[in-house]
Amino acid sequence: MKIFTAEQIRHCDQYTIKNEPVSSIQLMERAAQSCVDWIFENCKNHRNFAVFCGDGNNGGDGFAIAKMLYLKGFDVDVFTHSKGKFSPDAGSNFRSLKEISGITVREFKEANEYRFDNRTVIIDALFGTGLSRDLEGELKELVEFLNEKNNLKISIDLPSGLKADTISSENSAIFETDFTLSFQFWKKSFLHPETGKYAGKVQILDINLSKDYISETETEDFVIDDEVVKNIFKPRNEFSHKGTYGKVTIAAGSYGKMGAAVLATRSALKTGTGLTFTLAPKCGYEILQTENPEAMFIEGGSDVIDHIEIDESSVCGVGPGLGTDEETVKAFLKFLKDYSKPLILDADALNIIAQDKKNIKLIPEKSIITPHPKEFERLFGATENSFERLELAKNKAKELQIYIVLKDHHTQIINPEGKVFYNITGNSGLAKGGSGDILTGVLTSFLAQKYTEEEAAILGVWFHGRAAEFASEKHSREAVLPTDIIHEFGNVFTEL
Ligand code: ADP
Ligand code: ADP
Ligand code: MG
Repeated sequence: MKIFTAEQIRHCDQYTIKNEPVSSIQLMERAAQSCVDWIFENCKNHRNFAVFCGDGNNGGDGFAIAKMLYLKGFDVDVFTHSKGKFSPDAGSNFRSLKEISGITVREFKEANEYRFDNRTVIIDALFGTGLSRDLEGELKELVEFLNEKNNLKISIDLPSGLKADTISSENSAIFETDFTLSFQFWKKSFLHPETGKYAGKVQILDINLSKDYISETETEDFVIDDEVVKNIFKPRNEFSHKGTYGKVTIAAGSYGKMGAAVLATRSALKTGTGLTFTLAPKCGYEILQTENPEAMFIEGGSDVIDHIEIDESSVCGVGPGLGTDEETVKAFLKFLKDYSKPLILDADALNIIAQDKKNIKLIPEKSIITPHPKEFERLFGATENSFERLELAKNKAKELQIYIVLKDHHTQIINPEGKVFYNITGNSGLAKGGSGDILTGVLTSFLAQKYTEEEAAILGVWFHGRAAEFASEKHSREAVLPTDIIHEFGNVFTEL
């Protein structure tokens, strides 16, 4: 699914109004109706709504929503700036609302005296994607006042104060919402940690904007949706054998960190690879053979890996639990100098490369690297925020012709052309040691099964997050372990 900028969204609205049998006020009605339908389904225990409307089109949506809720039998109070310079559509909806005697329209400043029942839902329709300045003065105070309330909060299109494409300045107030009902598209700011935390749970409502505009308009940013993943996934062919599904070698583990090698190997086994090997130091021999009897062992040293030889027919994932012992550093750098096929590089493989910036050039083209934010910083340097980090990652992916899997709550996959694919599966149950190790196994396995690098990265990251969702439903986000997540791989395949 494409992500558009605020400007592209405005063009898309205009294009739709111009080329389809819908006027701008009708489009606003359609958007409001989609919100009211959602609210009706999801707020069954609430009777009373306080709707805060700005004077632009977001406020226009708010007036329309207020009216529709009232006509459905809810109690509705509207707060606005009645002397505001309404946009034409907002003004028209405001006047039509004022004709209804059952709805009280109040000034923003009256919110202070308003009795918020604990079942009152606060609807934020102050600003949407049109916001260009920080919230200041009366509106800033209003948002700060509302943020103190413990009521259920719903933002229309975008939490007020949040920008669609970038980070807001520190001075701006931002509405902290529980749900954001956003029209048609994901906004970039929902997907980054500094801004996404304001948006609560995001629901994307389809308001049927022009399909022509959407398909013809270019963007570099995408959200990975189920449809994309289902198109990538290739079910197994019955007339096949283990040779059909590739060979994986996981080079991982050191004394005390053999679990990482176990988890990465098991993830490769459980995602369908034909043949799986673990290259690890001898101290891991019994652990690995016992934990993963289906995988074969290749000795790469005694307590740490001190030599890496991979036969060319294998796809190789390197890094989990590797350690950065001097012997391992030497062995890994020697291996990198001689090896030219795409690799999956994670954890200490990346930390070793980061020890000397000259090493970065040794990463084979088309490799997939999977740094978490700290590993990314070690490799490529610090940035101010995750938006800047993403820009740096785009430059590096292009320069080095590699895929960067920037791991985060919404992991970003950046391809060598600088396109970005945001993942929306997964949850905080993954915030535990070992979660990344299983991702390495999954990605290596999919690459060995002849998915392209881009397909393997998109399918693998989505798959990993989806398995975490299944597992945390059973075990809770707190108790779920990477091992439990591997157990759910089968359910994810069944779903596909
Ligand atoms: P490990 O080998 O366990 O990955 P590192 O020292 O390489 O340990 O990195 C761990 C550090 O990276 C921790 O301080 C952790 O909080 C930080 N980190 C990991 N993921 C994120 C994230 N999504 N955002 C910010 N910091 C992160
Ligand atoms: P480790 O090295 O300990 O195995 P990493 O930090 O390398 O762990 O990887 C953690 C994995 O878990 C990444 O895929 C990351 O995207 C995912 N993850 C961590 N925290 C969250 C979160 N709060 N929401 C979603 N995914 C998360
Ligand atoms: Mg890791």
